[in-house]
Amino acid sequence: MKNQNEKKLPSPFELFGLEIGKGWLPLVDPILLKIEELNSHGANIKIEQIKEKWGMLSVYLSDYPDELEIMIKAAEEQSTHTCMNCGKPAQRVWGNQSWIYTLCPECLAARKIKVRGPVEARTILPSD
Ligand SMILES: [Zn+2]
Repeated sequence: MKNQNEKKLPSPFELFGLEIGKGWLPLVDPILLKIEELNSHGANIKIEQIKEKWGMLSVYLSDYPDELEIMIKAAEEQSTHTCMNCGKPAQRVWGNQSWIYTLCPECLAARKIKVRGPVEARTILPSD
């Protein structure tokens, strides 16, 4: 924002890094290692963004192979029952202001989040 001479728009990943809680780092680490490995063998995979969306891990890459797609889908699925703050087993719940949280009971209590109910697996959420 401050650098007005910037010509090329940096990706959210370049700007913000990992936009997730530390509880999800173990889910993301194998993906980052795989990208490094593939890139060191000639691939040109770019990380666009790694963030939390609707209480779920979302990984956006460009130019990536199917084997990474499978890893990402698995990590995204696992994130829906892993506390984003501490990594303990968690549930996706509706909290304050229609925000979705994937937090364990202790972390929900620590953040004083009022839980309005679980997010059903088949809840349709906006795609972006
Ligand atoms: Zn927790």
